[in-house]
Amino acid sequence: MQNYMYDRIKQHQATTRTMKAAVYKENGIITLEHRPVPALADPQDAIIRVTLTTICSSDIHIKHGAVPRAVPGTILGHEFVGIVEQTGEAVKKFKQGDRVAVNVETFCGECYFCRRGYVNNCTHEHGGWALGCRIDGGQAEYVRVPFADNGLTKIPDEVTDEAALFTGDILSTGYWGASLAEIKPADTVAVIGAGPTGLCTLMCARLYGPGMVIAIDTSDERLELAKEQGLADVIINPLKQDVEQEIKKLTLGRGADAVLEVAGGRDTFRMAWKIARPNAVVCVVALYEEPQMIPLPDMYGKNLVFKTGGVDASCCEEIMKLIKAGKLDTSCLITHRTKLEHIMEAYDVFENKKDHVIKYAIEVS
Ligand SMILES: [Zn+2]
Ligand SMILES: [Zn+2]
Repeated sequence: MQNYMYDRIKQHQATTRTMKAAVYKENGIITLEHRPVPALADPQDAIIRVTLTTICSSDIHIKHGAVPRAVPGTILGHEFVGIVEQTGEAVKKFKQGDRVAVNVETFCGECYFCRRGYVNNCTHEHGGWALGCRIDGGQAEYVRVPFADNGLTKIPDEVTDEAALFTGDILSTGYWGASLAEIKPADTVAVIGAGPTGLCTLMCARLYGPGMVIAIDTSDERLELAKEQGLADVIINPLKQDVEQEIKKLTLGRGADAVLEVAGGRDTFRMAWKIARPNAVVCVVALYEEPQMIPLPDMYGKNLVFKTGGVDASCCEEIMKLIKAGKLDTSCLITHRTKLEHIMEAYDVFENKKDHVIKYAIEVS
């Protein structure tokens, strides 16, 4: 009986242990509050102690109500790394103490779409982008990750937390977008947007051996960074130059062989198909806050292939290998570092692009 009581008290303490977490309250409001530490809810779950997390522009989209499926009251954060604290009995590939990067998408691995690698469209109720959107995410001290065997990637000893931080989201997005764009050796690739995801996309486009990579952005600073880091050969600022004309000059009047639209600005979709050569692939990676127009009469005969690239983050293992081999290096993206208790200041800086911010590395524990 005494033991029973002790267990009950311990259980009670366990369920009432709290942690700091950044929570999406409702349209326009995010707060840092105390929330209960999550517990395993399914044999395929793992509990991760978050060590390093970050803020993504999708968090800002959630804040603005531009992600209709986001559930108010959810802890934000879908881009983070940590240490496995606990695993459900069905988790086979991971054990307590493993350092892991967490995939933005949770997926069952068994449904029609998962079996084809389209994990973003996993038909399980927790499939797709759930973490930090529909279920509690990783801007917190602990997080429950469903389908842990599919959603975690081991971080090799040689790879730091910072180097692995973007594996599951913006690097996956860039990697997926670049793979959709059908880039061939010596091609001219144009990437619209040199923000965090744009920089990752430039980096991943390089893996295909293009002849020329062109970065387009309205921020000279970001463009300069892309050039300095060797991610872009040519940079174009639409506020200062006519992008279509510049790209024609660079391609004997043809246009770009592949275009990746990562900016999601007011007229960047239009720019994307305008600068593409006939028969090019135009891959839309961006998440728009407004509907976009496809004026078919204006592009008649151009015979473009449009693809949309809402990430299928099914290549984290390959990405981790490329990080380890030094082929993907996102260290230039981390301009700011802080701790979880200061995440609200970080949100302000990140959302309002203050202080030349590109990405935060937010230390949790
Ligand atoms: Zn994201
Ligand atoms: Zn599935």
